[in-house]
Amino acid sequence: MDFEAVIGLEVHAQMLTDTKIFCNCSTKFGAAPNSHTCPVCLGMPGVLPVLNKKVVEYAMKMALAINCTINKSCEFARKNYFYPDLPKGYQISQYAQPLAEHGYVLLDTNGEQKKIGIIRIHMEEDAGKLLHDEHNPVSYVDLNRTGVPLIEIVSEPDMRSPEEAADYLKRLHEILVYLEICDGNMEEGSFRCDANVSIRPKGQKEFGTRTELKNMNSFRNVQRALEYEIKRQQYLVENGGTVVQETRLWDDARGATNSMRSKEEAHDYRYFPDPDLVPVMVDEVWVKKIKEELPELPMAKRERFIKDYQIPAYDAGVLTADKGLANYYEEVVKLCAKPKIASNWIMGDVMKFLNEDKLDIRRCPITAKSLADMIKLIEESAISGKMAKEVVADMYKSGKSPQDIIKEKGMVQITDEGELVKAIKSIIEANPNQLAHYRGGKEKLFGFFVGQVMKATQGKANPQLVNELLKKMLARQ
Ligand code: ADP
Ligand code: MG
Ligand code: ZN
Repeated sequence: MDFEAVIGLEVHAQMLTDTKIFCNCSTKFGAAPNSHTCPVCLGMPGVLPVLNKKVVEYAMKMALAINCTINKSCEFARKNYFYPDLPKGYQISQYAQPLAEHGYVLLDTNGEQKKIGIIRIHMEEDAGKLLHDEHNPVSYVDLNRTGVPLIEIVSEPDMRSPEEAADYLKRLHEILVYLEICDGNMEEGSFRCDANVSIRPKGQKEFGTRTELKNMNSFRNVQRALEYEIKRQQYLVENGGTVVQETRLWDDARGATNSMRSKEEAHDYRYFPDPDLVPVMVDEVWVKKIKEELPELPMAKRERFIKDYQIPAYDAGVLTADKGLANYYEEVVKLCAKPKIASNWIMGDVMKFLNEDKLDIRRCPITAKSLADMIKLIEESAISGKMAKEVVADMYKSGKSPQDIIKEKGMVQITDEGELVKAIKSIIEANPNQLAHYRGGKEKLFGFFVGQVMKATQGKANPQLVNELLKKMLARQ
């Protein structure tokens, strides 16, 4: 039987506010355990949470960026469960009335667009962290993360393959980072994803029973976990079994998912509106103001790059994946007016250097001005493409301007015809045998002569000119 996968994702994104969602504690990652806590986020009796307005604004930005409708009124609810990382015994979240609903994200696969529906976006607080001692039977509790603001973005079950799920995640991630409301760090848990997946015979309308996968901390692992789980479900069904609704944990080392808890063991969260917090009212003026603050989003930027700079969709995709990179590119193009050549240098040499050093483009030692200057020098034939390779490497290492590097290294391209003719003449005279063979029909020897001229001029000869002159001079009887 031919099966089809059905996937829906729940994404938690940490909001980049300075302080927590209901108190003034810092949200900074990596501080000494329990140093960023206060009676509110420790859940002491009698304290009152106060909502951080920035969290609402950030959540609204995301909601608008992915085409959601923002509810005029929303409320916070208590999600009750017991766990040592949750001092209050409940998490403040949203339930019946979330901040926003009914949005979509556009995926663009090989020019074909597909909408992935968004069911809802809600705000909530994060829980603390447990650290398990490998050598002793104890666990440590760090409550620095309790109360750090999160938004949860729940998709419709609209994805049909693990690749599509990974693509959706990358688009969401990109938008969050563009909006500067989330740092997107998956390893530190600022961007986390639970994946719901089921299978059904192709053509069937009804959904199959789903499992929920947790504990994947990279795009690749989300994709791998889904691939494994789809195969597992298919194998089960093909061998007369049935899928049971359960939560499964991804085991990275084994490359497999394991059952964590079944539906019967699932918590009853006893949700109810939090009586300590008033409903949040969002009027149209506020929505309009946030809308006006939205930056150009990745998809729009990509389309503009293709149209305005006439570069391939692939280049536009790479250059706009990071807002900093896109800005850098635009700066270079503004200065040298060579969009495709600039794209080649950035996607090639510059990104290679940055990737090797895991360096952000914002810290790139090659300024946009330097790269543009170098491109202009190639265009003016002051240096050859080959020399430029050396110059760009030096620019990255030293941060110097291309003009200074060229001067220091004596890298002046020889474009003077008279000088080149002289050099070619002496090469021809020194190689009478090769000349005779060439004229006798061994055309491959042309390359030999080019090489000799380049060697004699220490690579400084303008290659185009050498080619032209050689053709004429070798043909002469
Ligand atoms: P819960 O609150 O128990 O997690 P929801 O109804 O909110 O359940 O759904 C959570 C996620 O599961 C959503 O992203 C949704 O798209 C997805 N989902 C629901 N049904 C299925 C299914 N049969 N197969 C795959 N994903 C599903
Ligand atoms: Mg769920
Ligand atoms: Zn606090």
